[in-house]
Amino acid sequence: MTREFEELLNWGGSPQATCGCGRVHFTESGDFMEPGELDGLRAKAKAEPDRYIGDSENDAVSIATVGGVTAVWGCKCGHFDRVEAYLWGNRDMFLRYYRTRIEREKKEAEASSALLPT
Ligand SMILES: [Zn+2]
Repeated sequence: MTREFEELLNWGGSPQATCGCGRVHFTESGDFMEPGELDGLRAKAKAEPDRYIGDSENDAVSIATVGGVTAVWGCKCGHFDRVEAYLWGNRDMFLRYYRTRIEREKKEAEASSALLPT
C-alpha cells in the first residue's frame, strides 16, 4: 500500500478487530480489554496461529473500511493492496467515468438552473 492510499483512508483503532478475511488481530498490550480477554485471545492464537494474530508493536489494531469491507492494516490477506492495485490499474476507466458523469450531471444542473426565474 502506498503512502498516498494509506493517507486517503479513514483509519480507526481498536484493541482487537476481525479483518474482512476472517483473521482476528489483537494488541498484546491488553489495553481496553475485559479481564481475561487477552488470555483468551492468546490461547486462541496458540491453537490457530494463522487466524488469531497478536501485535506486540502497536497499542491498537488499525482498521479501515473500503467498499463495505473492514480490513486490518498489515493483515497478510493484503486487502488494501488489492484494492489499491485495482483502483490504480483501472485509473483510466475511473477517470473516463468521472469525466462522463460530471459532464452529464453538469448538463442536468444547467437545464434545471435554466428553469429558475431570473
Ligand atoms: Zn485480512
